[in-house]
Amino acid sequence: MTEDKHPKGKENAKSFHMFCEIAGAFAPCMNDYLYVYHLAEDIYYISEQAVDRFLLPGNVFNHVPDVLDVLTHPDDIEMLTADLDQIMAGRKDYHNLEYRWLGRDGSPIWINCKGRVLKDENGNPNIMVGCINEIGNKQKADNISGLLGESALHDHVIRLLPTLNQAMFLRIGIDDFKVINERHGMEYGNFILREVANRIQHCAAPQQFVYRIVSDEFMVLDLSGADYVKMNQLYHRIRSSVDDIVASEQYKALYTISGGLVSLQDVDASESEYNRYSEIMKVSEFALTEAKLRGKNQLYYFRPADYSAFLRRRYIRSCLRRSLSNDFQGFSLHFQPIIMTNGEFLFGAEALLRYDTPMGEKLSPAEFIPILEESGMIIPVGRWILRNALEMCQKCRDFCPEFMISINFSYIQLLKSPVYEDVMRALEEAQLPPSSLIVELTESGHLGNNPAIQSVWKKLRALGVNIALDDFGTGYSNLLNIGNLRPNIVKIDRSFTMKALQNKYEYELLLHVIKMVHSIGLNLVVEGIESHMELMQITAMNPDYIQGYYYSKPCPGDEFIRKYHPSGSRTVT
Ligand code: C2E
Ligand code: MG
Ligand code: MG
Repeated sequence: MTEDKHPKGKENAKSFHMFCEIAGAFAPCMNDYLYVYHLAEDIYYISEQAVDRFLLPGNVFNHVPDVLDVLTHPDDIEMLTADLDQIMAGRKDYHNLEYRWLGRDGSPIWINCKGRVLKDENGNPNIMVGCINEIGNKQKADNISGLLGESALHDHVIRLLPTLNQAMFLRIGIDDFKVINERHGMEYGNFILREVANRIQHCAAPQQFVYRIVSDEFMVLDLSGADYVKMNQLYHRIRSSVDDIVASEQYKALYTISGGLVSLQDVDASESEYNRYSEIMKVSEFALTEAKLRGKNQLYYFRPADYSAFLRRRYIRSCLRRSLSNDFQGFSLHFQPIIMTNGEFLFGAEALLRYDTPMGEKLSPAEFIPILEESGMIIPVGRWILRNALEMCQKCRDFCPEFMISINFSYIQLLKSPVYEDVMRALEEAQLPPSSLIVELTESGHLGNNPAIQSVWKKLRALGVNIALDDFGTGYSNLLNIGNLRPNIVKIDRSFTMKALQNKYEYELLLHVIKMVHSIGLNLVVEGIESHMELMQITAMNPDYIQGYYYSKPCPGDEFIRKYHPSGSRTVT
């Protein structure tokens, strides 16, 4: 396009609307976005579908430099501004840049923006017309598998979505594909990808379209109206066909396939097509990951409730991470008294962890402790608990010299961190004798006979720390663990206590457990006593200590001290 072949100046200015009309007419049959930028009047027009994709205020807007400032990835603003400055100054009459705009969710999207500048009758830059295309993720077809790629799936789905009511998305992944590449080389890996692609395509019925979406993952888009049962059958057909490849290759490489199945009906329909497509890809990825997490070589059917639980766990994990890097903000300890049955004296307290998210939501330990454990964050948090609980013990020993502090330890701490060294150091720092500390471990079937845990236990016991077996009566190997872990104290869980209070058989059982525990020289805490009546019934069985709401709910340290300090109104209830 040269200037002299085209109308100049005012005519160009008048042409702005005409260009916009032409661009608007072409837009529906293009993947790219057409734009018209009236440099002199500071007006910008872009194809309407760009508004669903990018962080744009609309498809026609003023104050273009300000909008571009918000829309462009911060690292690319300088480069873009320098180029536009050259154009505005008339030193350049074309624009061709690869840089990033931000998507509606704020994520960067690579674009190639090309444009041609039309000048007015005085030779000043007037209008720039051009085209923007996305350059990331644009693999239309895949030469290894012979299938269409993710971008073709994207276009297909976007085209259909406005009128589509029913569709199924079966995302298939080869389990441990990385291992195949590592052990047998890329070429053999490519051979397997080709073979698996062929088998999937062969199993697919008419109206089932197959795409290769990322390295070892495929998508079957079902438009045949198949339900869960039919898609399950399809998955199993593909699976046994893939098993045949493994057998025909004399088991050179062993691999299986997992599948994540998503129904369009389970994806939020209120969003724009672009957002719905990215939601489908997100949940199908979740579904495939879930199939793999559940043991691979299986199909997982997407359930929105599982996804919400996953998002909730992810949200809590990120809150916990933030708190950890923010000096444990949001974490606190509550203390619940443990009372001697003989004379109702204060024996000590159990330290119980509490957590408020940065948004102020109070979470239950049942929700956040498993997340601390699976992420390994329980290790630094465990050290924080130890330090703060011992500090509390020190304060309580000022008015109750034999005060004991009971701290819950997670098996992850025991398996993955130097608990013995941590305990020794913390006791030294707090200047407390090892006998002031009770370490509680939740009863769990596989722990008792773990040699690593037994060895830490032995060392802690030798140091003089007390060991308590927590949650007794909730697992299946309680008695076994009394033998394996050799605790000093057994804590009867509230669920066992409740059953004993309601049922004669369980009452007799608890009575015998208490006698047995005493006969081998151990002490016993009964947890979960809420009323005077319960207290009477349970103390008749002669346990050593009681813990429960009847005496006090867990409370912050200062409240606990106020309650039990002799200068205050010291009552145990
Ligand atoms: P746990 O160690 O068995 O703690 C006793 C739980 O029973 C506490 O729940 C306590 O508030 C509750 N409880 C005590 N008396 C009564 C009662 O009379 N009635 C009722 N209904 N409940 C009573 P919490 O604080 O929600 O803790 C739950 C579990 O979370 C704990 O069970 C423990 O396994 C874990 N946990 C709490 N804090 C920590 C911690 O600092 N570290 C670790 N690793 N786990 C902890
Ligand atoms: Mg406990
Ligand atoms: Mg307990």
